[in-house]
Amino acid sequence: MTEIHNAAESFGCNVFNDKVMRDMLPKNIYKSVMRTKQFGTALEDDVANVVANAMKDWAVSKGATHYTHWFQPMTGVTAEKHDAFLTPIDDGEVILEFSGKELAKGEPDASSFPSGGLRSTFEARGYTAWDPTSNAFVKDGTLCIPTAFCSYTGEILDHKTSLLRSMEIVNEQSLRILRLFGNTTATRVTTTVGPEQEYFLIDKKYYDQRKDLMLTGRTLFGAMPPKGQELEDHYFGNLKQRVSDFMKELDSELWKLGIYAKTEHNEVAPGQHELAPVFTTANIAADHNQLTMELMKKIAQKHGLYCLLHEKPFEGVNGSGKHNNWSLSSNDGQNLLDPGDTPMKNLQFLTFLCAFIKATDEYAPLLRISAATAGNDHRLGGNEAPPAIISIFLGDELQGVLDAIENGTPYRKNADTTFEVGVDALPNFPKDSTDRNRTSPMAFTGNKFEFRMLGSGDSISCTNVMMNTGFADVLCEFADELEKADDFKKTVKALLRKTIKEHKKVIFNGNGYSEEWIKEAEKRGLPNLVSTADALPHYTDEKFVKLLEKYGVYTRAEVDSRKKVLLDNYSKVIHIEANTMISMAKREILPACLKYSKFLTDMILSKCNAGLEHVLEQKLAERISSLCSSLYESIEKLEKDKEKAESFDEEDYENTARYYRDVIFNDMKELRSYADALETNVGAEYWPLPTYTDLLFTV
Ligand code: ADP
Ligand code: MG
Repeated sequence: MTEIHNAAESFGCNVFNDKVMRDMLPKNIYKSVMRTKQFGTALEDDVANVVANAMKDWAVSKGATHYTHWFQPMTGVTAEKHDAFLTPIDDGEVILEFSGKELAKGEPDASSFPSGGLRSTFEARGYTAWDPTSNAFVKDGTLCIPTAFCSYTGEILDHKTSLLRSMEIVNEQSLRILRLFGNTTATRVTTTVGPEQEYFLIDKKYYDQRKDLMLTGRTLFGAMPPKGQELEDHYFGNLKQRVSDFMKELDSELWKLGIYAKTEHNEVAPGQHELAPVFTTANIAADHNQLTMELMKKIAQKHGLYCLLHEKPFEGVNGSGKHNNWSLSSNDGQNLLDPGDTPMKNLQFLTFLCAFIKATDEYAPLLRISAATAGNDHRLGGNEAPPAIISIFLGDELQGVLDAIENGTPYRKNADTTFEVGVDALPNFPKDSTDRNRTSPMAFTGNKFEFRMLGSGDSISCTNVMMNTGFADVLCEFADELEKADDFKKTVKALLRKTIKEHKKVIFNGNGYSEEWIKEAEKRGLPNLVSTADALPHYTDEKFVKLLEKYGVYTRAEVDSRKKVLLDNYSKVIHIEANTMISMAKREILPACLKYSKFLTDMILSKCNAGLEHVLEQKLAERISSLCSSLYESIEKLEKDKEKAESFDEEDYENTARYYRDVIFNDMKELRSYADALETNVGAEYWPLPTYTDLLFTV
């Protein structure tokens, strides 16, 4: 009881939220900030000064001494540069000061953040600008101000700016549609997102003994443990004490930051867990997800644990993803993806639904790109995560409705429920019956879409930028057509029918993990961009650049720079993995195997001298020796191929990535196979690395 009471009391206590502002700011200033928050209007200088001062006083009362503009460069993690509130005045004294200018704008040195050639180093300046829609907060004695990050000439260098822009266009276009359906009350439509986050917890002492985990976040070696996840006894199982302590502390720290972590449970793989927050506005959800990942890592260490956010920390064991639950809510209280209970509301729902279907079909590669990283390549298409093919799962009932619309027949669920678009109310769909399919990358789950392709370590921003922009574009096209219509209902019905006909190829309600689906998808002409190296080059396809440019989400130069940053990152990640593998194989694994070999040959010698038979030792020694030779050969091959990669033109991002995927990636697989075979043949006391059993079953 007291725990819950305390949680309610401390919820959001480290956030400079609306309530704090209402209490601390003069009424007119507060109103002005709320206007800025809601409509994105600029804050006047004198208002900013008052807000900044209140923020500083509040932060100092929470123990803060510094402030930082908190931003999300394209490295995928958040960045901060701390400045003290202290300002020296005459005669060596200092005062605590924080101005509106310091709140609104910062100028971190941008030269070390990836820009994909947007910014040459002689004009390396960048600036950060306050995002008043996301609340400031205190973390570790520092006031953190969520900001967007741009180059000095205004090009976007982060994840936030474009997300805010894409939300704005969803708002504009959704309102156009709502007006057409006679809505006069809504003045704002927001994209809502609830990201479910998967992660692994392992014992910190084993983490410290594995260079691959430390340098790359995943195990580059490791034979399958005798027991895997086959018993599925971990899924929703009882929480171990240490894990439960960790989750409690994590929840409590998240709550203080106003992040409402709601459910925590064990996942399918041993050592794997999931956290789901209550959904909120997309850009806040993105900020909160970054904070959640950061806190998971930090708090785990306090419990002697290490939190792995890599998409595939363990070969042969399910990897970790992130589910982006996405919907739209209007400020007059509607979820626009909720089938309504009147014929007109139904028609409105079906219009938004069909727009979503069309957008997903038209812009599928952009969604795929938003989940394209070296880490996630290990998941997509494995039998644990959706395949790299984008498709939508609707469920039988909704499928029945769409079929009926397409064929111009009434939808008949059973003898007494029929439904005609625009005439009847849709029959009630039981929500749980829409979510049985876990193999689809984009599932309709009753009143939202769940995009399941994202990797656990990814920022959710890019995915939401793509979902929002594509969707808004189709809404715009729909609105253009419907605004001209004489007979509105008739035009809507015709539009829906046409949309379903043309885009139903992206709908697939079957098993996305099956081989048949891959063939079927190919027949339907759906793109199957298997790896990151296949997906990223499409970023600059004319169709996509045009879309992103049209709505001011990215300029052509920004799209190009993003593609380069991502491709470059991909190659670098594999390069670092290859280096780490070579070093571990040569300096840890081979020496251990040779030691074991020596033990065996010594044994053979002494048995020989004693005139004893030594067939077993001989066999073992030969096996080890042959595996070691193969291991060494594969190290040499990897070294040679890697040298070649280093000779590639630095600007040739696409071919470099291709090469890392086609050559280095496979070399690494081969090298690993020998090392893993050795692991199962070499005496345990000789093996230099904690095993999968140690990593997965000891927390
Ligand atoms: P499951 O594990 O079956 O996918 P969960 O209940 O664990 O379902 O997670 C559902 C997620 O969807 C939660 O994060 C929740 O906040 C989010 N969600 C629910 N409604 C909406 C909505 N309207 N918009 C965005 N996200 C939503
Ligand atoms: Mg889910």
